[in-house]
Amino acid sequence: MKIIMLGAPGAGKGTQAEMISEKYNLPHISTGDIFRANIKNGTELGKEAKGYMDKGLLVPDELTVRILLDRVAKEDCKNGYILDGFPRNIPQAEVLDAELNKLGDKIDAAIDIEVPDESIIKRMIGRRACVSCGATYHLENVPPKKEGICDKCGDKLILRDDDREETVKNRLNVYHEQTQPLIDFYQRKGVLKSLDGTKDMMDVFQEITEILA
Ligand code: ADP
Ligand code: ADP
Ligand code: ZN
Repeated sequence: MKIIMLGAPGAGKGTQAEMISEKYNLPHISTGDIFRANIKNGTELGKEAKGYMDKGLLVPDELTVRILLDRVAKEDCKNGYILDGFPRNIPQAEVLDAELNKLGDKIDAAIDIEVPDESIIKRMIGRRACVSCGATYHLENVPPKKEGICDKCGDKLILRDDDREETVKNRLNVYHEQTQPLIDFYQRKGVLKSLDGTKDMMDVFQEITEILA
């Protein structure tokens, strides 16, 4: 099963992708997590990506597409995967489509989590992230058991540099201009599933499992 998570920054893509990954035993592939791991490790890729990320802009397709295609070619992806944060514009979606076509393969579901912009800012300001394992928390909605510490791996939680209010506004603009057109793209392919992301995270997950059943 090959699944794409769509939705604005902060809609809950990562949170849901993590739960889908556990239930269906599929790798959760987040391009944002890959970039953050590279920034943490001080790689060239990380240095290049950080400039764009801190401004709330997309990292150029030449970098992003190569990383994604390398990742999905790995052995653990042979039964499928969940893409979280890729594709983020039409050209990325077209490259992915062409690559899958070559393999006689396709995306099974594009899950669009809908949350209005007004709710997004609140979610982002309270978001805390673990760069070691990719887990996500929220100060009020999804607090970790021990303040500031990841439940899953014990590393320190951070407020992402790009989760400040000004940057979130830029990211929302980029989302509406470049990413939202993907909703039509996958609708035309007949794989789009939209759901209300303002509900409780377990209710959202329940709906996703019904969609995937
Ligand atoms: P995305 O990957 O789409 O950017 P995240 O999964 O990181 O979004 O979620 C953004 C923030 O909102 C996180 O702090 C997360 O804990 C919180 N969150 C996720 N789903 C819900 C939900 N259904 N209700 C309330 N808060 C949520
Ligand atoms: P969120 O969970 O809030 O949606 P991500 O972790 O997916 O954010 O992405 C963080 C940043 O990483 C983006 O704002 C962008 O700069 C960069 N990024 C992630 N995925 C892509 C992509 N597919 N194309 C271009 N840039 C990306
Ligand atoms: Zn962790």
